Amino acid sequence: MSHSFGSNLINLFLINRGPFPSFLNYIGKYDSPNCICSGYGDALHYAWDCSVTKEYHFVKLSLNSENIWLSNLIKYTSNKTKICRLVKWLSDNESFLRPV
Ligand SMILES: [Zn+2]
Repeated sequence: MSHSFGSNLINLFLINRGPFPSFLNYIGKYDSPNCICSGYGDALHYAWDCSVTKEYHFVKLSLNSENIWLSNLIKYTSNKTKICRLVKWLSDNESFLRPV
């Protein structure tokens, strides 16, 4: 995985504009912003809650510390690698995750 490719995936996650139903709904590609599990399908849903992406989960913190969590997240290479894998997986499985 090249450096720029990885950075791009991390940016998509941080600005919530990756292969997430919330964003795909925003740009008119999906009819619903929700995940197939019926939760709200934004980046943090897949990093914290969604049963489909359990193997990529991070420890969830309280919602009011979301920004602190995100800024701490990218300080560590292991976290960045994990985010890249998560976003790549979501991208590869986009059609499977699309709500019907
Ligand atoms: Zn879900």
